[in-house]
Amino acid sequence: MATTKADLAQIKLSDVKSLSSSVVEKLESMSINTALDLLELYPRRYLDRTKQLKISELVPGEEATFYGVVEAISSRRTKNRKSLVQAVVADGQARIKISFFNQAWRAKQLKVSTEAAFFGKVNDYKGNIGLINPLVDIIREGSGSQRTGVFLPLYPQSPKENLSTSDISKAIIEVLKLVEDLAEILNKEILDELKLIPRAQAYRFIHTPENDDEARKGARRLRFDEFLMLQMIMVSKYLLYENSVTSLTLPKNEIEQKFINSLPFELTNSQKTAIKTIDEEMSSNHPMHRLLQGDVGSGKTVVALAGVARAASNDAQSIFLSPTEVLANQHFESAKKLFKGIEKVSTNNLFSKRDFAVEILTSSTSAKKRNEIIAKLESGEIDLLISTHAVLYHDINFHNLGLVIVDEQHRFGVDQRSALIENREVRPHLIAMSATPIPRTAAMLYFGDLKNTIMKDMPKDRLEIKTKIARTKKQRESAYKKVRSEIENGRQAYVVCALVNESDKIEAASAVEHIERLKSDELSGINIGLVHGQMSSQEKDAVMSQFKNGEIKVLVSTTVIEVGIDVPNASVMVVEDADRFGLSQLHQLRGRVGRGQYQSYCFLLSEKSSNEVQNRLGAMEKTSDGFELSEIDLELRGAGHILGGIQSGVGDLKLGKLPRDAKYVEYAKDVATRILKNDPQMASIENKTIAIELKLNEDFQSYEYIFKS
Ligand code: ADP
Ligand code: MG
Repeated sequence: MATTKADLAQIKLSDVKSLSSSVVEKLESMSINTALDLLELYPRRYLDRTKQLKISELVPGEEATFYGVVEAISSRRTKNRKSLVQAVVADGQARIKISFFNQAWRAKQLKVSTEAAFFGKVNDYKGNIGLINPLVDIIREGSGSQRTGVFLPLYPQSPKENLSTSDISKAIIEVLKLVEDLAEILNKEILDELKLIPRAQAYRFIHTPENDDEARKGARRLRFDEFLMLQMIMVSKYLLYENSVTSLTLPKNEIEQKFINSLPFELTNSQKTAIKTIDEEMSSNHPMHRLLQGDVGSGKTVVALAGVARAASNDAQSIFLSPTEVLANQHFESAKKLFKGIEKVSTNNLFSKRDFAVEILTSSTSAKKRNEIIAKLESGEIDLLISTHAVLYHDINFHNLGLVIVDEQHRFGVDQRSALIENREVRPHLIAMSATPIPRTAAMLYFGDLKNTIMKDMPKDRLEIKTKIARTKKQRESAYKKVRSEIENGRQAYVVCALVNESDKIEAASAVEHIERLKSDELSGINIGLVHGQMSSQEKDAVMSQFKNGEIKVLVSTTVIEVGIDVPNASVMVVEDADRFGLSQLHQLRGRVGRGQYQSYCFLLSEKSSNEVQNRLGAMEKTSDGFELSEIDLELRGAGHILGGIQSGVGDLKLGKLPRDAKYVEYAKDVATRILKNDPQMASIENKTIAIELKLNEDFQSYEYIFKS
């Protein structure tokens, strides 16, 4: 059989005879251990020596890439004790002086006659052009006598290891020999349809292209494969749910009707539609597997609780998983309120009536209480358990678990979700809720195994939050004046002052300092509370509940305030150093106000005036649509920032990038669906390689059973 990527993953670089051991050692220190690792170390860019500028053609003020040989190198200290390394680089016709500040190691890296590519902004220093701290790609060390190609791959380099791009290139060429008979995973029909080249050729093209076009074609094919592998996982899980049958068909709705009728408000159309969908799926014989998306404050919780009520109507239990204790407590309080007075009649025994039972289990629940709760879950005396992921670590034999709700889905790893749901013989229904609206393509990529419900309407009593950027001292003062006047009117306020990149200690100290200033100045005489990252969750809870019951008027927070916190009386928010936050985060934060009937305000304080910051904060002023903002955020910062840690659970993209590659996600999903529909067990000869290679993906390993008949 032809070589697969799984075979390449078995080949240790230290066993490849033609590689020098010093190069292998350096690669290993970069975590590149196998032939596959090396093959998937892709060039970060290329140097086209037919198109590159000559040193004599460089124009001050412009960015340029050029090639040159080090003629001289020197290092010294500047007047203010900075290290300065200076290199004179020549290309046979002209010379340029390149300066490196605080990069003392460059003196060792750039030995005389080293060939390298330089990229940076050309400056003009007293009539001589120069470059300061450019990007450097070492092409070849030492003697420049060897001939080099005209189209060179430049690999990511680790300055410590002193591994030149030509060392890496040479090693890769050795590994490429192993790829000559690499098995193909796509049939000709699909390759033709998507205009993709065979993958063995793609690896050759991406590493040893003759020109730009070949490099692009290689990258295109390999990028597609990355997305395809992710979609194979998503689609196979999706189909698994589609095709599996549950014995938890939950058709009755008595308690659900009571629950809906007793709500203190009228449901929005979106909520009604979402509940209808959930009802249909819960009463069918497929397990539901649904992502509920709605903007901050759109009322997702009530929709999920309607599902809980439906489960209870059928004697089935529900778990509601919250990412934090504070949120779990809040959901517990509101669920107790909403289910108050609702009775549960056993469907088996019409005479056994009791109140609907809600419980909470977190890591601060005492052992005694925990055992009590677990016993009740096993006997069926609890209908709804609100919990943090603490529950995932206990082996609980639920009496009849019918519904799992995961709030703030993106904070839970994929594996945690599966632990609760997939390891059970009778698979419960699932509702996952996301706090942040997720751009469509990102949702397809990372949550492709879930069906999607989007709630567009907001409760109608809501007023749009007035958002203002405050740059000047005067604007800042007027922001805090507004805080004061809102509090005088009986409202409450949030002040967020997170130092995102500093250590928790510094963060806490700076928040305390900030509070002292506010107390003695802008907000003197007002009761202010503080939550910061160094507090225990009990301490945080204590402050939060004082804020909820109105004792504390202003809540200063150094961490991003718990995403789901609901205090309808809060009507104003000040975000200090708002430029430190991404759009999705800002939108989440802003969603803490405007949750009641009061006109609310959000002030984004920032002294920065760069274009990027202006665009980001400006978007907040312009729109309050979370879906629109998440698209802009994806554009500005990529998926990682929106979804937090989620990617690590699903596999990394080396070549792919959103939103740029949105089309690939769609094609890949389509191809994965076709492959899996034709061959659900992945048992055919044609799919043998892809089935083997899927197992290389760590996340997939927990789903391997999908393909076992
Ligand atoms: P999110 O979707 O952000 O999780 P929540 O479910 O926390 O939003 O709901 C926000 C607030 O709106 C809660 O106080 C909730 O009781 C209230 N709410 C939910 N649905 C409606 C509605 N249809 N009309 C008025 N208020 C509602
Ligand atoms: Mg919520």
